[in-house]
Order: sequence, then C-alpha cells, then structure tokens
Amino acid sequence: MTIRRAGLVLLMMILISGGTSLGQATTALRAGASAVPITPYGKNSYWDGPVTPSGVWGENFTDSNHNGRWDPGEPFVNDARNSALDPASRGRYNGIFLAGFGNDRMATGKHDDLWARALVLDSGTTRIAIVSVDFIGYYQNAGYYGIDQVQKLLDPKLGIQEIILSSTHNHEGPDTIGLWGNSPVSGGTFPLYLKFVDRQIARAVTLAAQAAVPVRMKLGATNPQSSPALAGLQTRTDGRPPRFFDEELRVMQFVATDGPDKGRAIATLINWNTHPESMEDENTVLTSDFPGAVRDAIEKRYGGTAIYVTGDLGAVEIVDYDDPRPRTTFDGRDYPVVKDNKAATFSFTRTEAIGREVAKAAVEAIEKAEWSAVPPFSIQKRELRVPMDNLGYQFLISKGVLAQLQGFDAAGGPQAVSTVYAVRLGDAQIITVPGELFPELYYGVAKHRRRDCPKADTGRPPEPAVRDFMDAKYRFVFGLSPDELGYFVPGYDFHAPSFDPETGLQRSSDGCAGVPDHYHETNSASSKLAPAWACTAIELLGGTTAEFPACARQGYTRGLAGDSAKQGAKGRIK
Ligand SMILES: [Zn+2]
Repeated sequence: MTIRRAGLVLLMMILISGGTSLGQATTALRAGASAVPITPYGKNSYWDGPVTPSGVWGENFTDSNHNGRWDPGEPFVNDARNSALDPASRGRYNGIFLAGFGNDRMATGKHDDLWARALVLDSGTTRIAIVSVDFIGYYQNAGYYGIDQVQKLLDPKLGIQEIILSSTHNHEGPDTIGLWGNSPVSGGTFPLYLKFVDRQIARAVTLAAQAAVPVRMKLGATNPQSSPALAGLQTRTDGRPPRFFDEELRVMQFVATDGPDKGRAIATLINWNTHPESMEDENTVLTSDFPGAVRDAIEKRYGGTAIYVTGDLGAVEIVDYDDPRPRTTFDGRDYPVVKDNKAATFSFTRTEAIGREVAKAAVEAIEKAEWSAVPPFSIQKRELRVPMDNLGYQFLISKGVLAQLQGFDAAGGPQAVSTVYAVRLGDAQIITVPGELFPELYYGVAKHRRRDCPKADTGRPPEPAVRDFMDAKYRFVFGLSPDELGYFVPGYDFHAPSFDPETGLQRSSDGCAGVPDHYHETNSASSKLAPAWACTAIELLGGTTAEFPACARQGYTRGLAGDSAKQGAKGRIK
C-alpha cells in the first residue's frame, strides 16, 4: 500500500484554457471539464472543520486505547455546527465512517483522493452539468445537503439548467447516507463534511463551465468479446441468478476544435457497470477504488479530465473470489487468494491492475469510436414516486437515519421520490436511474429472467426493456443518479424481507435449494422501484406502456410528460 504525500496540491483544477463566452447562441457544442478533490483528509483550504491526528477529518477525541480512531466511550470535542445542520447528529461522534459493508468501519488514513468531476455541455440553448462523485450515493434533496443546495451556490449567470449527478457507488469512501455509523440506528453522516461536498461540487461545475471550449464528440463502446481485458471482471452477488450482466463499456470523448488545446481531448467519460468494492471490507483507508486507476490511465493516455460514471450495477460485483473459478490475473500479473488473509488478497496493487484492465478496454472503445454531430441536444425529466414499503427504512427514518429518503403521498403515507432524466446528445442517449439497477431491467426481464426455479416466481409481470426504447446508436445508463434508493429488483423475483424492531430486517429465503437468501431486497426502498422506473423511463423516451401489465399503475405514480416540478415534502429533517 502506498500512502501518498498529504502535501500534494489539494485543489487540482483541470482548467482548459479558452474562452468563456457562455450564453452566445451557436449550434456548435462546447464542453468543459474539471476535477475537484473531496477527500476528507489532510489540509484543504476549503475545509473549516476539525481534523484528527491521523489526518482524517472528524471531531477530535481522546484516543484512550491508541488505535488511531474514535471508539464508543472515548471522550470527544463536540462541534455544535453538526447538530445545528442535522439535529439527529446531536450527541454522537461526527467523523468519517466508511460506507458499505458493516457498521463502525472508521477511516484511518488515505490512499488516493476522492473526487467531484464535472463535465459541462453547452449547445448555446441547452447547458447542463454531468457530475460524478466517488461516493456510495448522494441526493438531489437531502434537506441541508444535496444537488438542490449545490444549485443555490451557483452563479445564475452560468446558466446551468440541470446538474445530473451520479455516484460511483464507492464502498471505500465516507458515509453520505447514514447507514454505517457505529450502530445501525446511530447514523454515520458528518454534516459539516456534506456541506463542504456541496461547495466543492459547485466549484467543480463552475470551473467546468468557465473552461468550456468548442468541441467535437466521439462515441464508442466495447464488451468482453471485443476487449478481453473486461472478461471475468463482473460477478453476481453470492451467485444470485440469473448470471446476467451489462457487459458493455461505453465512452464519450470531447476533443477541442479551437484554442491552444485544438485537437486534444479535454474530457473522456467512461460508463461501466459493476460495484467498486475491489478492496472488500478489510480496508479502512480512503480510496476511490478501481475507478481512480481507470481515470489515471485514461488521463495519462489522452490528457484532459477522465470522468467515470457507474451504470446498471445492481447485484453485479467486481471480481472477488467467491466464484468457483474466478479470474486472478490482471494486467499481466497473478493475484492469488492469500489464505485466511483478505487484506493481503485484496491489495491496492490488485485494485490498480483491475483499473488498468478496464482502462485498456476504454482505450479500445475510444480508438474505434465514431464522430457524432451535435445537435440534437435535449434533456427531459420526470418525477418518480414509489411507496416506501421497506419497513426497515421506515424504522430508520423514525430514528432520524435516512431522513433524506422521506417523502409523503397525499394521505401522509411514506414515499420515496426522485427524478429520471433522459438526455439526447447526437448519436448518444443517456437514461438515469436513482439507485442500483439490476441489469436485466435495462435489457428486459422477459429475455433475461432466471429460469432455474419457477416456484420462486412471485407472479408479478416482467418489466419491459428500457434499452429497446432508446433509438440512438450509443446508449448510456447512469446509475445512482441523482439519488440512491437502493436496489431495483425485478418484480417477479422480489421477495420482501421481514422486519422486527429488535432484530431488524431478515432476508427472505428463495424457496429453491442452492440459491442465496434475498439480500438485495433488504437494501431497496420499495418493491415498486423496478416497474416504476422502467415504465417512467419508457414514457420519458417517448414510448407507450399501455401494452405492458407491469406498467398498469399499481401502487405507484409517475409524473406527467415534461413534468419538472419538485412536488411534495421531501428531505425534511425533523
Ligand atoms: Zn450496492
């Protein structure tokens, strides 16, 4: 493991020189990109909160047992600004708990930076920002933090109409959701840090807008058949059937047509589909996991800013060693299982080698990419509303955890509310999903359903294939965008967990031998996410859904065409 020097330049703006004539009417596409670090570690002139002796940000504490982290019972210096932002944080230690895996995994150092990376696209009449953050998830409206707050920090003169944010779903970064504090009900967010993140995202968007130059756009895609570097990198969680993945890796590259960078790439966006958790659960130092290595390799090759955007990764994990015969060779070196030593098995050198393999495929996609004309360039969105029928989530909300997911229907019933975006950009289309989409929901459940166990079928109708309603040659899907509502599980295979306030959520068994218990449903805000998203997305893409039984409005609602109103109470923290 290499801990990089903390004294590196902390604000790395990748500014592309050129004009800033925003607002001028032109049919040509302009693009700008930026990368701003959001690592809660070390010196940063934009951070106004406490730093612990390890360098990790957090309230100072008496390290009675000298293990380098705060433990329950150790005295700490309360910073009242946290409870002023989020009353639920009153009385608890506010610091950096790592997200994903189990509770109480506090950050003890840093390996590499976490980033907010922004791409601003501007046609003269349409101007949007695409932002990727190295987090497990983030929100449009989480009350005191989220993209609605970022919008308020932006200069209106920049004219950014929409910020489309996607989280990479990094499992080695701070808890931005609240599920991973020192106990399941104590909350793990650090309010002061989340306010810092909002400010840094606003900076990233501003820098990208100011850097915009005229560009041409290239689009490409590859898969493990064309790019063997990708083969065997994806696996299903615990082998959950069907063994189906979105194997396609997609790229967009923007090349300057004017100015000092003429002919050079200013931004490359990579869209691929698996959980960034190659370090597994033993690591406690901050890292962006393999996407960081993908970005480094792409920037080394092309210059400019690389932006990694996670796609449909529900139930899809990066290669681990649960498979009977997993791939162990990455970038020319073997990384075998070190017996009874997970920390040695899942090393940073292995993670970086995996990232270089993904980058190799991305380079192959770029090398065979095609130029695409722009326009068309348009963006549409629609509200998504589902009943929050996960009783564990409702319980946590009552404890002040997950308050950002709280919405209500007209009768006061709990709902989860989000937005689905569809973007058309030349020969590319982007559809977004506010959570972790099982890939069969993108490609079609009827074609890609499990067939091993008819008696596990709930009888709910299959959701239609969203991808079939996209007519562009290059079809991108942005996951965890803008929200993280958990897993989107197909209705025919959704087996709800049971809930008891004493023991929490209990996975439902499958009913078929050799099939794992249904874990994903415990981390899903609603059993209706899959049909609500598929049917909303299809209507947004101009399709009709009347012929699909899954789209009969059973217990969820969808916004009207062109609906952009933010309705209802959401994210209100009591
Ligand atoms: Zn996940």
